[in-house]
Amino acid sequence: MQEALVFNLQKFSIHDGAGIRTDVFFQGCNLRCGWCSNPESQPMEPLPGEKAIAYTVETLVAELVKDKPFYDESGGGVTLTGGEALLHPEFVLELAHALHETGIHVALETAACVNEDVFSRVLSAVDFAYIDLKHYDDAKHKSGTGVGNALILRNITNALKSSTPVVVRIPVIPGYNDSEADFAGFAKFLHDLGAKEVQLLPFHQLGENKYKRLQIEYAYDGKKQMRDGDLSAFAETLTKAGIQVQIGG
Ligand code: SF4
Repeated sequence: MQEALVFNLQKFSIHDGAGIRTDVFFQGCNLRCGWCSNPESQPMEPLPGEKAIAYTVETLVAELVKDKPFYDESGGGVTLTGGEALLHPEFVLELAHALHETGIHVALETAACVNEDVFSRVLSAVDFAYIDLKHYDDAKHKSGTGVGNALILRNITNALKSSTPVVVRIPVIPGYNDSEADFAGFAKFLHDLGAKEVQLLPFHQLGENKYKRLQIEYAYDGKKQMRDGDLSAFAETLTKAGIQVQIGG
């Protein structure tokens, strides 16, 4: 029976999809964003002193189903995130299927940097997806995350044509993608792709203490957090391009 490592099960989440949800944070990510608030999630195995639980689909569903009354009452469900949930595609496919059998809504949150076939198979097995886009420019994407964006852009393009509802999520990072030129570039790119809805996430420092605890160098040490209001110019640029904008999760 297959297993996957989960480094956090966050119950009563209201930031990653509709209603009350449980976020399943899978261990392992193939990006290395300098602003990542979950640096402990990046390696495929937990760092020394960190914990992750190996679940089977069966044991994970048994845990998730305990909160079904809250999901049902609030129109919520389960959100599969990470790390990168799509680094565990067969597990995620089986999990989505098992959750659907119990009547639980399944959302996915992904950076979409995986093989196109894997991506489309998982996308068609979930009810909703947030797809992160850190930068539309390939060189900038690589400088911020360690990888280029060609595969991600292909997956976003395909996702927007698919029957699964998709919202593109942009984490807005000071000095990286928050200039007027960046806003205009995102707006043009997303408009041309036919994106209808975008969520902007203001930069926060929720992960700062983790870097200290793990003794990992943090590129955004001491950087001021953003407030929702700091993103109004970006939101306006997107709105003018005909894109509906939500600020914050
Ligand atoms: S994609 Fe998300 S989890 Fe992965 S490194 Fe970037 S911010 Fe962290």
